[in-house]
Amino acid sequence: MEILNSAKSENRRQLTEIESKSLLEAWGIPVSRTALARDVEEAVRIAREIHYPLVLKIASPDIIHKSDAKGVMVGINSELELRQAFNEIIKNAREYKPDAKILGVSIQEYLPPAREVIVGAIQDHSFGATVMFGLGGIWVEVLKDISFRLAPLSIEEAVEMIKEIKGYPVLAGLRGTPPADIGAIASIIQKVGQLAHEFPEIAEMDLNPVFVFNEGKGAVAVDARIVLGEGR
Ligand code: ADP
Ligand code: MG
Repeated sequence: MEILNSAKSENRRQLTEIESKSLLEAWGIPVSRTALARDVEEAVRIAREIHYPLVLKIASPDIIHKSDAKGVMVGINSELELRQAFNEIIKNAREYKPDAKILGVSIQEYLPPAREVIVGAIQDHSFGATVMFGLGGIWVEVLKDISFRLAPLSIEEAVEMIKEIKGYPVLAGLRGTPPADIGAIASIIQKVGQLAHEFPEIAEMDLNPVFVFNEGKGAVAVDARIVLGEGR
């Protein structure tokens, strides 16, 4: 994979969101459409192709948690807003981390609100590639409601992983809420497992969040982070 080699040759462990998403996309995992704008005019050109509303995010290998840097703006509706948001994001990033290398701003398609899940992978020292699954936010951070499996894993095992978390009813559909697209999540989990298994130099992978739409409507990673390591 080209992206892994270019990061390695620069001695870089963190792939950017854009690099991480291209790698996932090459592996057949759905990601939100994303392009890097190095300046405002490039952002305006990209916006003509992706269409409003848009999401803008800081693109910097030195800023991992983009929201912490006030580096994410959702629902940009016009060229005027786009220009303002672009400049604001760069300014916020400079204040947050003056020495950060800033590549520009990533311009993305806006996806409508959906149920959010997290799919991740790590290389375990003894067991090798391990995948994790959970619902977003407090479900993972506070309640530690997460399931794990060794990779590679089958679709059936991925479905089991989804069903065994305590929060599963949120996905199955509560009180008249339609069920989420469980099959689409299982497919992402399985592919993430395959990717981590095939590329031991991927030390960590984090798709956070993955937007899950109603049954039959799919699931899409809107943020992704890949960290390279030494390999197993
Ligand atoms: P962070 O680096 O802070 O994790 P994210 O890329 O995850 O940044 O963005 C923060 C939040 O913004 C996400 O959790 C999601 O709710 C929302 N978001 C991000 N990208 C999109 C998108 N393309 N469409 C709609 N909402 C988005
Ligand atoms: Mg995120």
